[in-house]
Amino acid sequence: MTLSIHEPAREVPVTGEFDVVVAGGGIAGVAAAVAAARNGATVCLLDKESALGGLATLGNVIIWLPICDGRGRQVIGGLGEELLRLSVQELGKDDPAAYFRRVPACWEPGGDPAERRHKRFQAEFNPASYFFALEKWVTAAGVTLSYDTRVCDVRRENDVLTHVLVENKSGRTAIAGKTFVDATGDADLCHFAGEATESLDSNVLCGWYYYLREGKLHLKQCTHPYSPRLTREGGAGPFFRGDDGRQVTDMILGSRELVRRDLAAIRARHPGEEVQLFAPTTIACFRASRRLVGALSLAETQVHEWFDDTVGLTGDWRQAGPVYALPLRTLCGVRNRNLLAAGRCISAEAAVWDVTRAIPGCAVTGEAAGTAAALAAQGAAGAVAGVDIRRLQDQLRRQRGLLDPALVKPVA
Ligand SMILES: Cc1cc2nc3c(=O)[nH]c(=O)nc-3n(C[C@H](O)[C@H](O)[C@H](O)COP(=O)(O)OP(=O)(O)OC[C@H]3O[C@@H](n4cnc5c(N)ncnc54)[C@H](O)[C@@H]3O)c2cc1C
Repeated sequence: MTLSIHEPAREVPVTGEFDVVVAGGGIAGVAAAVAAARNGATVCLLDKESALGGLATLGNVIIWLPICDGRGRQVIGGLGEELLRLSVQELGKDDPAAYFRRVPACWEPGGDPAERRHKRFQAEFNPASYFFALEKWVTAAGVTLSYDTRVCDVRRENDVLTHVLVENKSGRTAIAGKTFVDATGDADLCHFAGEATESLDSNVLCGWYYYLREGKLHLKQCTHPYSPRLTREGGAGPFFRGDDGRQVTDMILGSRELVRRDLAAIRARHPGEEVQLFAPTTIACFRASRRLVGALSLAETQVHEWFDDTVGLTGDWRQAGPVYALPLRTLCGVRNRNLLAAGRCISAEAAVWDVTRAIPGCAVTGEAAGTAAALAAQGAAGAVAGVDIRRLQDQLRRQRGLLDPALVKPVA
């Protein structure tokens, strides 16, 4: 086999020009796109799939983990709370077997503060109604949405990104932007733009799926064990990297086999009952694949630390108490002045990546990146460094972001 071929240079049509281009329409991407649009930017949102929500919807990861600290204090407001409430807006009643659960009453306005220490501010949603709702939410904000569109390369001039190259039914085209947000989950855009990245090879087989048992809907959180420190230790192999084309397919095939075996075990436990696979995942389910290595990589030891450039907070879904401030530096490209990352692929070390990758952290970093991108796009070369951090923080506070140093301090 010939090891490489030469691709001749060719003219590529430019099919759009926007203030802010967001790659990836998972929770981080939708938050970024809507935040940028609400801040007056023209925005285009690109996704390789045909629905919004990424892992949260197409991966059936339907637990909107807490936006509180587990000690009764809400630490995420703004689009995080809006997106959480949107996820269950059509839910009339809870259904524990299907994992449909509304926001606990104590977290409604006027709710009991004492009860908030025991019940966390979270919800469990129906992924199908959520992606329908997200689509309406994004388009109502004036975002130009492009489905079935994969970002596959970039054009740069010196240290400024000028275009993303995309492929879809129209072939290969370019989209021009002033400021870009990488919300691909896998840091694809950062990688194409020459940023330093880190990839993990500790992802395990998994695939949460719905099944019908005697006509009643159930969710199964089907997964091999994995290490919360995102190492291989404690996990069950085979292990996979999310940044390798062959491995993505192998991971999907292996995960489907896991689901088949899991369903067979359910049937064996309930002989004579009708058990049907109903809605499996339709996207590869990597917990942590590739991330930006920015000027600062958030470390687990930085829990309860406030930063001058804090743009959001997140609690720790695994335990009550810890609160992390998320500095703008964890979102900024180093080699590209007008590039931000959001969601699963921000600059965070593995042990804290398990916190920032959860849906609440993705919404927070998405809103921060989108807001910063809209402000950056107003300045020279769309550069993020040109954004006055106080102005950005004030704007996030106006958007009901809970940027309060007191919330980061530990409480009993
Ligand atoms: C098995 C499993 C269980 C989990 N459980 C929970 C849980 O219970 N609660 C919780 O809060 N979190 C959970 N998580 C984590 C959480 O779901 C994700 O980390 C989070 O949803 C990621 O959001 P995101 O927007 O950063 O990325 P993603 O959801 O990965 O979205 C990225 C989007 O970008 C698109 N994309 C990717 N590459 C390109 C490209 N090159 N061009 C165009 N589009 C592209 C994708 O199609 C996708 O829509 C779980 C994850 C897994 C895998």
